[in-house]
Amino acid sequence: MSDTTYRAMVVEEVAAGKYDQAIVNLDPSSLPENPVTIAVSHSSLNYKDALSAFGNRAVTREYPHTPGIDAAGTVIADASDTFAVGDPVIVTGYDLGMNTAGGLAERIAVPGEWVTPRPDGLSSREAMILGTAGLTAALCVEKLLEAGARPADGEVLVTGATGGVGSIAVALLGKLGFKVAAVTGKLESAEFLTSLGAWKVLDRETLAPFADKAIAKPLWAWAVDTVGGETLFNVIKCLKYGGGVAACGMASGAQFQANVFPFILRGISLLGVDSVELPLQKKAGVWGKLAGDWYIGEQLEKIAEDISLDQAPEFLARLHRGHGIGRYVVDMT
Ligand code: NDP
Repeated sequence: MSDTTYRAMVVEEVAAGKYDQAIVNLDPSSLPENPVTIAVSHSSLNYKDALSAFGNRAVTREYPHTPGIDAAGTVIADASDTFAVGDPVIVTGYDLGMNTAGGLAERIAVPGEWVTPRPDGLSSREAMILGTAGLTAALCVEKLLEAGARPADGEVLVTGATGGVGSIAVALLGKLGFKVAAVTGKLESAEFLTSLGAWKVLDRETLAPFADKAIAKPLWAWAVDTVGGETLFNVIKCLKYGGGVAACGMASGAQFQANVFPFILRGISLLGVDSVELPLQKKAGVWGKLAGDWYIGEQLEKIAEDISLDQAPEFLARLHRGHGIGRYVVDMT
């Protein structure tokens, strides 16, 4: 980063419905007027960044725009006097990278209420291997534990298992002693999933035959669903009595057709998970867990692929097609 300019990925609408992503030098005066300025050392790529980078107006209303819902780095300046210069911090979610210039840049400027201190047990890079995906996976696991999930209950299904949220959910649940059944469209990645802690790996097509049934044979005790759409309800139909699913994603779609049978005949719980608007204190608590008892350092190394800011557009295109595996960490050091 030079003293006068900083590098950022900027997405522009170059023709109606056609979006271009370029790495450019920006003047610090182009940062939004927010009190906390951060030198970003690491960011990461999330599905939502891919939506923003390819013009999804439900995520980003106006272009040119810099995506990036995750950032970790050090404070350069804080007009609100909450943080000292040099403090290591993490920002995920809220409006970062949606309609506020995001973490795919060497600098961000954000409100203090979005900034959490980085816990000692996590490096900046590790915090971004986790990022919003890790926070979300941890929240899904918390929801299941709060609902009473115990390893003795039986297998826990994780859909979209090779994705960012899915792979971290597999690793976390494995660490906590659960037998994880990882569902994937990429069976060639079965070894990767097993190395993260999956008990078994299932083809995505395993769930397809349940589409025609109102309720199906109970197969799994609990589930984390990152895929949404019809998959979510197919999972719900196959949960054992008293089980539940933590639902956080929509990689295959937002809509699904449902009936009440799994809820009224088996007492199944549908547990919604949001990591974006979650109050900062709660976010900080989850980061503390991920740096402490839930630290999965060895698995994080298997999940991570380090890329440069210049490579971000190419890897966002991969995520947009559903072809991502694990987590892409953008190294800006
Ligand atoms: P990724 O792109 O990293 O992973 C998504 C995975 O879903 C893919 O790798 C693939 O895994 C699977 N998938 C993709 N397309 C389909 C499809 N058509 N049908 C079935 N499976 C598919 O995304 P993230 O892990 O970052 O995010 C996952 C979801 O969670 C997204 O919808 C995202 O928006 C949402 N999310 C929600 C958050 C919240 O706060 N609620 C926070 C973070 C993410 P495989 O090939 O292994 O099946």
